[in-house]
Amino acid sequence: MYIDWNSHRFSGGVLALDLANTVIFRQTPERAQDRFANSMEVARFASAAANFRSGEWGHIEFSPPQSLTEHSTLIELREAINKLFRTAVLEERFKARHLSNFLQLASGAIGGDENEQDLTLPPFARHRELSLSAGAVLSALNLLDPGKLSRIKICPNCHWLYLDESRNRSRRWCDMTVCGNRAKAKRHYDRKGREHGQ
Ligand SMILES: [Zn+2]
Repeated sequence: MYIDWNSHRFSGGVLALDLANTVIFRQTPERAQDRFANSMEVARFASAAANFRSGEWGHIEFSPPQSLTEHSTLIELREAINKLFRTAVLEERFKARHLSNFLQLASGAIGGDENEQDLTLPPFARHRELSLSAGAVLSALNLLDPGKLSRIKICPNCHWLYLDESRNRSRRWCDMTVCGNRAKAKRHYDRKGREHGQ
């Protein structure tokens, strides 16, 4: 069955965080699911990302990994991005080994590029096409800016990472229509349960 790469799955707000969120239920390892377990989904994610992330990138196409090696690099990069920013939110700091791991993988992902892609950081570049890995690296580098970093949050319902770009930093959920409503429904049932002495 194909994954529906809809707007909810791009609640991260920037490519790097959307990529990290392609593993769901990370907080409960026995339930965790990797949406990229079927490698065809990576290509489908890449084409949906060009659409949902046009605010970050302008008009662009992301090319998915072209080989198994590139696929593994992307997965390693995704995990490094997740660890780096999740720890930054939870502990308000970067850990040396997380940053080092990210930078090494970033270097590997762009260092072998013989096509000389335009690696200007968004939103100022005029990219036409970029490998998904290079896009993830550039998007993550932008998040190192303290102004952005301080806006990264973890959804209390699904534990996805997202960038809160609201003016007063008031966004509480990755997606109000999904996680916000689920939490509201849960509070409702919990209250009902107490009223009935359960
Ligand atoms: Zn959520």
